[in-house]
Amino acid sequence: MRAFKNDKEILEKTAIIDRFLRYIRIDTTSVEESDKCPSSPGQLELAKMLAQELRDIGLEDAKVDENGYVLATLSGNRPGTIGFIAHIDTAPQFTGKNVKPVIHENYDGKAIKLKNGIVIDPAESRELSRCIGDTIITADGSTLLGADDKAGIAAIMAALEILKKDESLPHPTLRICFNPEEEVGRGADKFPLETFGAPVAFTLDGGFVGEVNTETFSADKATVTFRGVSVHPGMAKGKMVNALRYLGSFLDSLPTEKAPETTEKREGFIHPTDISGDAAEAKVNMILRSFDDKELAGHGDEVKRLANKIAEREPRLGVEVEIKEQYRNMRPGLDKHPGIMERMVQALKAAGVKPFHEPIRGGTDGSRLTAMGMPTPNLFAGGVNFHGPSEWISTRAMALSACTILNLIQVYAESGGETK
Ligand SMILES: [Zn+2]
Repeated sequence: MRAFKNDKEILEKTAIIDRFLRYIRIDTTSVEESDKCPSSPGQLELAKMLAQELRDIGLEDAKVDENGYVLATLSGNRPGTIGFIAHIDTAPQFTGKNVKPVIHENYDGKAIKLKNGIVIDPAESRELSRCIGDTIITADGSTLLGADDKAGIAAIMAALEILKKDESLPHPTLRICFNPEEEVGRGADKFPLETFGAPVAFTLDGGFVGEVNTETFSADKATVTFRGVSVHPGMAKGKMVNALRYLGSFLDSLPTEKAPETTEKREGFIHPTDISGDAAEAKVNMILRSFDDKELAGHGDEVKRLANKIAEREPRLGVEVEIKEQYRNMRPGLDKHPGIMERMVQALKAAGVKPFHEPIRGGTDGSRLTAMGMPTPNLFAGGVNFHGPSEWISTRAMALSACTILNLIQVYAESGGETK
């Protein structure tokens, strides 16, 4: 196998940076409240551009499907099929409109100052101190950058460019998907799993050099509804049951030691996200999170117990608790295929990159796809400080992501069609 580990080679031989800079200029912010897919016109605009670029590279079947998913194939010169996935949209938490990239060549190790008082300080963003001498790309302080996940798209494109230029490199059949709606948790909803037809895939949606994610939260949504008795307040004595008051007591009874603001690393939480209602009926939506499915079920039981305890205070008060599954930790699904992890680590090491495993305190499209039967761990694309104006990426990091992809492809080529 030819180990790719030279970032400069990727930067010279491919258009990785030009591509990245082109992609981030298109506003692809996804819209939570929308029921369309894709939820914003910019996503479709970028999807079409990407399909054309894939065809230009030589993946002739590249197309955008009816839901805005870009699909393409590079036929293998070795048996087996593996998939590579990155998402088109950017996070709705911060604007992605009119992104003006700023290129900081030969980074000197000092704090990077941007517009609007945004400072990216190596004391806080510690990966910066590992990028001295690199070219760093940021936005100008007024938008996010969009390295999440346009760096992933650019890295996959660069790897394809290399494979097309050097046909002697061994590779299984590669299926590529650039999908919309990841940031609003719907990227897997319309994922064309059957057409995609890969027994294993990798999302290129991770952070700094070396990051590997094979664990995510398991997630449920809980809704608790209190139903009171509404009466004109002037004549309410002994009659009114104000649902809002009971909802307030319920919120107060939630365990503060199991909140996002008091937990980290492997600790789960119960988190009320929004409330609505009036005296007659009031409800709260909550998200429940844990790395362990049993503990997650325990969070659900605790919500029910606390809600019922409130209901015991007033026989006329109605209470309803609904718990819905959102996604599951990909770890148990991946544990069934230890070969996947071994090959990823092999690919990273061949790129001269030290793997570090980071459990994600959230979900990825890969969590859902793994649950749907296609094991899909996540690999780094290089970016840091996602979803805000201090997002940044080193061009070396992005190139090393492409190197890792190329190594992984060759590791699979050597496995003789064994993909799991
Ligand atoms: Zn992402």
